[in-house]
Amino acid sequence: MTEKRKVWRRWAFCNFGTAPGGLPGFDADDNNLYRTVEAVFQAAKTTDPEIRATIAAAKTPSEAKRLGRAAPLRDGWLEMRDAVMRQALEIRWSREPYRSRLLATGDEQLVERTTWHDQYWGICTCPKHGGVGENMLGRLLVQVRSQLRAEEA
Ligand SMILES: [Zn+2]
Repeated sequence: MTEKRKVWRRWAFCNFGTAPGGLPGFDADDNNLYRTVEAVFQAAKTTDPEIRATIAAAKTPSEAKRLGRAAPLRDGWLEMRDAVMRQALEIRWSREPYRSRLLATGDEQLVERTTWHDQYWGICTCPKHGGVGENMLGRLLVQVRSQLRAEEA
């Protein structure tokens, strides 16, 4: 694959961005409100209500991530993680000003460039990986963008 890909500005589309008003948890029985997409995602990794509440209370997305990484994974997590991410992205990016910001990217391909060897959610630009990765986060954001555009039409 040699296609040209637009790589997003470092933090513009990052999951660490806040979501004013909070985001609901993925599961129907999760009544917490989360500050970021990252926190929703991390909390959905587990079914433990106490850990979820701790993640919801985390002051920073980095802390939410750390707590999620230490949480006992629920059964079937790997199979459902894309759906969790998609739902959280959809809720956050359908609100203003994020909605306009996402729609303004037009038909650009959205790529999360990482330097920490994440080849699933983004692409890793380290010398070893050379910009290769699934870019699942970028692909899900493009799906959400298409949906928002369809709603506006
Ligand atoms: Zn790498």
